[in-house]
Amino acid sequence: MRIRGSRVAVVGGSIAGCATAVALARAGCEVTVFERSPGGLRDRGAGITLPAPLHGELLDAGYLDPGMPVLRRPELIWLTRAERSAEGRVVGRQPYPAIMASWALVWRGLRERVPDRDYHAGATVTDVREGDDGVELRVDGRPAGTFAVVVGADGYRSTVRPAVAPEAAVEYGGYGLWRGDYPADRGAGDARSPLLDDFVAVGFRGGHAVFYRIPDAGSGGFRQNWALYGGVPFELSPDGAAPVPRGQVTEAAADCLDELVTRELPPVWADVVRRTERRELSVNPMYDTTVSRYARGRLLLAGDAGAIARPHTGAGAVKAIQDACALELACREHGTWTEALAAFDTARRGAGNALTQLGKHLGRMRVEESPDWSALTPADFESWLHANTHGWQSAYDPS
Ligand SMILES: Cc1cc2nc3c(=O)[nH]c(=O)nc-3n(C[C@H](O)[C@H](O)[C@H](O)COP(=O)(O)OP(=O)(O)OC[C@H]3O[C@@H](n4cnc5c(N)ncnc54)[C@H](O)[C@@H]3O)c2cc1C
Repeated sequence: MRIRGSRVAVVGGSIAGCATAVALARAGCEVTVFERSPGGLRDRGAGITLPAPLHGELLDAGYLDPGMPVLRRPELIWLTRAERSAEGRVVGRQPYPAIMASWALVWRGLRERVPDRDYHAGATVTDVREGDDGVELRVDGRPAGTFAVVVGADGYRSTVRPAVAPEAAVEYGGYGLWRGDYPADRGAGDARSPLLDDFVAVGFRGGHAVFYRIPDAGSGGFRQNWALYGGVPFELSPDGAAPVPRGQVTEAAADCLDELVTRELPPVWADVVRRTERRELSVNPMYDTTVSRYARGRLLLAGDAGAIARPHTGAGAVKAIQDACALELACREHGTWTEALAAFDTARRGAGNALTQLGKHLGRMRVEESPDWSALTPADFESWLHANTHGWQSAYDPS
């Protein structure tokens, strides 16, 4: 099974799918991407943070667009609610070199690198079957050809994952992430805090919320982005069964969020959340998945189809692109698929599963066993931060 000239299919055309398609085209493969969503994916994500130390590497490798607007922040400022301060009390500062980016712009940059003739939108892969001559795919129930190799880049509920890592389960972490974003000049005339330009986290018992601005994918301006980790009403997401996408958050759920931010956040930050219109809200349950393999036979996994890490790690998009970089390297260093997929599996299995563990650890520290923030002194904060990070590797570790 030689790599150069092989026909390869990629299931899923989001960040992992497009990045992997770029990697495989560079390795000389004939690539076809099948993406279930009929339209573009521009509206799917909001703000994401990328580790600054990796940003340059991904630019050099040609997976991120050098013209993509981003914001850079060196630290995460942790606050808590305080009696006489509308913006809250600064409890401590965490060195956290980050690039604030728009999910839509990261995706668009990758999508533009995949030729339109190779990208099939509105095409759902319904069956993946390995045979003697290759992997047979069915798309929307109909045969779509036989491929030398198939990449599962089809997200957290991957249809390819069970064939690669049958034991892998998607486990609910017990809480969720409320998210929202809107044009940063909305309500710009009202009382301001200079911290609105920073990367801020507000801690409370049972959760925390992060705030940062991102470049706007459409207007060239900025968007106010926020994400709040905490409880989600059972009726909204029984057992964390499914994400609630933008436009589907009910009035009752939005009222729960309003109560939560009124109770837990300093007024400035509660106000940032309240400016979000209901159609701009979404809720994502926290999921954990580890996988025993990243490749088996002629199938491989990339992005959230492999291991899933909670967003505390700020690593999902980057992990997806790193999977593609590792695949490109494995294809370059090995002449056959058998060798290349074995090398890819070794390179990404440990990295993916380690991120899942980091996400669980951070979730325990910051949500499930969060400290009493109102009582936290600067010294307490330092030891809490030490317990968050000591012995754990994160791509955001300052060099
Ligand atoms: C709330 C939240 C916050 C996040 N914050 C960050 C952050 O700060 N930094 C960061 O790096 N990452 C972050 N991430 C993670 C990041 O957005 C994802 O990890 C990243 O989008 C993974 O991309 P993916 O391509 O693997 O999966 P997805 O984006 O889920 O894409 C999978 C694609 O496969 C398609 N698909 C599924 N099944 C089929 C099928 N059968 N046939 C064809 N197509 C199919 C889907 O339509 C979808 O487009 C966050 C994620 C969430 C949910």
